[in-house]
Amino acid sequence: MATKKEKIQTEQFDVIVIGAGPGGYVAAIRCAQLGLKTACVDEWLNHQGQPSLGGTCLNVGCIPSKVLLESSLLYHQAQHAFVHHGIKVGKTGLDLPVMQARKDTIVKELTQGVAALLKANNISIYSGRGKIQASDQAGQYHVLVNNRKTKKTTTTLSAKNIIIATGSSPVRLQQAQLTDNYILDSAGALELKKVPEKLGIIGAGAIGLELGSIWQRLGAKVILLEAMADLLPVVDTTVSRQALSSYAQQGLDIRLNARLIDAEVKNKKVSVRYEARGKEQKEIVDKLVVAVGRKPNSERVIDKEFDMEINERSYILVNEHCETSVPGVYAIGDVVGGIMLAHKASEEGVMVAERIAGEKTEVNYALIPSVIYTHPEIAWVGKTEQYCKNEGINYKVGRFPFTASGRARANGDTEGLVKILSDAETDQILGVHIMALQASEIIAQAVIAMEMQATVEDIALTIFAHPTLSEAFHEAALSVHGRAIHIN
Ligand code: FAD
Ligand code: AMP
Repeated sequence: MATKKEKIQTEQFDVIVIGAGPGGYVAAIRCAQLGLKTACVDEWLNHQGQPSLGGTCLNVGCIPSKVLLESSLLYHQAQHAFVHHGIKVGKTGLDLPVMQARKDTIVKELTQGVAALLKANNISIYSGRGKIQASDQAGQYHVLVNNRKTKKTTTTLSAKNIIIATGSSPVRLQQAQLTDNYILDSAGALELKKVPEKLGIIGAGAIGLELGSIWQRLGAKVILLEAMADLLPVVDTTVSRQALSSYAQQGLDIRLNARLIDAEVKNKKVSVRYEARGKEQKEIVDKLVVAVGRKPNSERVIDKEFDMEINERSYILVNEHCETSVPGVYAIGDVVGGIMLAHKASEEGVMVAERIAGEKTEVNYALIPSVIYTHPEIAWVGKTEQYCKNEGINYKVGRFPFTASGRARANGDTEGLVKILSDAETDQILGVHIMALQASEIIAQAVIAMEMQATVEDIALTIFAHPTLSEAFHEAALSVHGRAIHIN
C-alpha cells in the first residue's frame, strides 16, 4: 500500500506485455508496429543490478550458451582438428576470463539492442515485477509494477489487453539444493570462472548436453546422470542412437537409468549419490549442475484474487490462439509450456499481437523446428519414425550419411546423417531429422519445404549448390525413391 508521500503513476495503454524475453519483446514490437499503444514490463536485473531485457534467452540461455559452445569448439578444434588440416599452432592455451568476458559483452550488446528496439518502436519500458489485478467495470486490467530493489509499487498500468510472457525458471531439486559455488543451475554453469576437473550434470536433456559439451571441450571430465532409459526420447531413434555413441566417443560420460538420490557439499567437493541398475552408486565431483528441466513463472504474475486457470504443473492454460481463461488476457512462450524454445515464444507473440489488432493469424505448431547445439548438432521438424510406427502411418524413409558428402569431407567433419520420412501414398514430407555440423541451418530448408507442403519429389527436383552440406538433404530425398546418386 502506498503512503501519502509516494506518488504512484497510472498509465493507460492498449496492450501491456509482461516479460521481455523472446516472447514478450517480439509481441511488444509487433503490437507497436500495428499501431497499438504498448507497455512492456520486465523484472530481469543483471549482475550489476541493471535492467537487462531479453529474458532467459539473451541473459542466461540461448545466446550465452551458443557463445561458449562456439568458443569451446574452436578451442577443441585448435587442439585436435587443426593438425589434420596441416596447421601447426604450437601449444594451445585457454584464457577463460577472456572467453567469459567475450560472452558477457555479446549478452550486454544484445540486451541493450532489445531495449533500443523497444524504444525505437515507442514502447514504454517499465523495470519491475508486474502483477495483474482483476478487471474493473470498464473491462480494464490493472498491472501493478513492483520495483525489485525497493519492493514498492511504482506504477499502475491499465489496458484492455494483457500478454503474459513471463517465461520459466530452472527446476530445483530438493535433493540437490543450489549452493553459491558448488551446486549450480544452468545459469551458474555458464558463469564458471575455472574449468572444473570433474563436472557432474543431473539431466541429459538439451541443456545438460550443451553445458556438458562446453566444459568437456574445455578440459573437464563430464558425467551426466539421466533418470530415463533412453537418451533424448523425443528425437528420432536413428539420430538419438548415433548421438549417444558420438557423445561417448567425445568423452561425455552419459549414465542412463541413473536417478539422483541426493548431493551434498563435503570438503569443497560435491558428493553425489544416485541409483543405477537397482544399486546405490556414488560419485565425487568438483561442481554439480542441476539441469532437469524448467518450470513456468506463472504465480509471480497473477494476483491471488485473479481467477485464471493454470494446470497442476503451474502452466497457464491457453487455447491454440494463446487466449487464457480470462477474456483479453493472453499467455505465450515458456509460461504456457509446449515446446519451450525461443522461436516458439516469438511466433506466439506475433500471433497474439496480430489477433489483438483484429487479424486471424495462427501458429503452425506442427512445424516448429528443434535444435540441440552439441557437436554434431541435432535438428528436427515434424514426425519421428517411432511416432509413424506407433500411429500406423504408411511411410517411406530416405537417408543420406555425411560420410558420402564431399563438403563434409572437405570440412573434415563427416559425422551424422539426414533422414526424411514421407507419406507413402501422397509423397508429402512428414519429418526431417538431421545430425550434422550445421544441422541448425539445414533444418530451415526442411521447415520451408514442409510449410509449403512440398513432396519429396519437389525436393528431388530442386537444384542444390555443390559442394554444400545441404546436398545431403537433396540426396536423402532422392533416397526415399531409391535413386540417391552418391550412395550404393
Ligand atoms: P523468458 O525468456 O524466460 O523471459 C521471461 C521474462 O519475463 C524474463 O526476463 C523474466 O525476468 C520476466 N518476468 C518473469 N516474471 C515477471 C513478472 N511478474 N513481471 C515482470 N517480468 C517478469 N531456446 C532456443 O530456442 N534455442 C536455444 O538455443 C536455447 N538455449 C537455451 C539454453 C539454456 C541454458 C536455457 C536455460 C534455455 C535455452 N533455450 C533455448 C530456451 C529459451 O531460453 C526459452 O524457451 C525462451 O527464453 C522462452 O522465452 P519467453 O519469452 O517465454 O521467456
Ligand atoms: P529437459 O526436460 O530436456 O530439460 O531435460 C531434463 C532431463 O533431466 C530429462 O531427460 C529428465 O529425465 C532428467 N531428469 C529429471 N530429474 C532427474 C533426476 N532426479 N535424476 C536424473 N535425471 C533427471
